[in-house]
Amino acid sequence: MVPVYVTKAFLPPKDEYLLLLNRIWQSRILTNQGELVQELERKIAEYLQVPHFLYLSNGTLALQLALHVLGIDGGEVITTPFSYVATTSAVLWERCQPVYADIEPEHFCMDPAAIEPLVTKNTRAILATHVFGFACDTEQIEAVAKRHHIPVIYDAAHAFGCIYRGRSLLSYGDIAACSFHATKVFHTVEGGGCVLHCDEHCHAMDLARRFGHHYDNHIQLGINAKNSEFHAAMGLCNLKYFERNLEARKTVSRWYDEMLPDAIVRPAPQKGLSGNYGYYPVLFPSEQALLHAFERLAEKQIFPRRYFYPSLNRLPYLNCRASCPVSEDIASRIACLPLFPEMDRELVERICREL
Ligand SMILES: *Cc1c(COP(=O)(O)O)cnc(C)c1O
Repeated sequence: MVPVYVTKAFLPPKDEYLLLLNRIWQSRILTNQGELVQELERKIAEYLQVPHFLYLSNGTLALQLALHVLGIDGGEVITTPFSYVATTSAVLWERCQPVYADIEPEHFCMDPAAIEPLVTKNTRAILATHVFGFACDTEQIEAVAKRHHIPVIYDAAHAFGCIYRGRSLLSYGDIAACSFHATKVFHTVEGGGCVLHCDEHCHAMDLARRFGHHYDNHIQLGINAKNSEFHAAMGLCNLKYFERNLEARKTVSRWYDEMLPDAIVRPAPQKGLSGNYGYYPVLFPSEQALLHAFERLAEKQIFPRRYFYPSLNRLPYLNCRASCPVSEDIASRIACLPLFPEMDRELVERICREL
């Protein structure tokens, strides 16, 4: 039996990738903002209809650079306990203190009502995640941010291809950070980037990702967060297949909708949001039910994932005393079922039968 994991990375036809690699062999420019990186940035900015998109080495550095160019180098960042660990580790790595605002139980995004009571004179930013491509309540979050003059960063690692109220979900916030890791709906093997709206921030991030200098002119502190021509080539190939893959994912999601037993709760789609079908999250009645289902599926070589567990306020190395009851409850009994473009109906049927 071939094991089935939560996702299976898409690969474009090899010939198409090789064709782009030929250009690298000709130019001998392998990295440092070569023509393929520039072309990918242009195409993504155009696709998302945003003023600036910077391609970076991964989504974690995208979050870190977002904090960095906004001048947040200490203080408190109000963030979500329900996300991938990188959302919190980026905050910690930038020497900031994560302060957790609990989530709402419908779509697992930060509850705007939980933010304001946490604002102090040390609050420097809000960092919220569009979990599973569901949209944060951007209007309410941005209203709180405006009242307290703090910027909003979105962890949009799940949101590529999502349209919210007529525009890309990545276009919301002061900066949106995304990931193009192999497990995401659109990938460049490793990779990520930031959507920016302010020329100044874009200029600062562009410098910061390449050591902060332009030839012999050393302008500011920088790091290495560039990405290579090889990664950009994968992105250029995959971008062409993105819409087609989204449609295939939608079909698989519909099969799950149809065949899953009623006791397994699935979050309802949000009003005003056209999703990317990146994940198929399901809520079990209890953690025990989840563990039991995982055991049964494992016997059949099927491996869903506990996205996200634990609730980040419970990270063992954090010693955080705050409790986030909604996030902790959801984290204990949520899982993502296998979902990738090449799945056939028979496999979805098998998974649903086990459940
Ligand atoms: C994948 C992911 C990241 C990290 O992105 P990398 O490209 O793997 O560094 C951050 N946040 C969320 C929500 C993610 O899913």
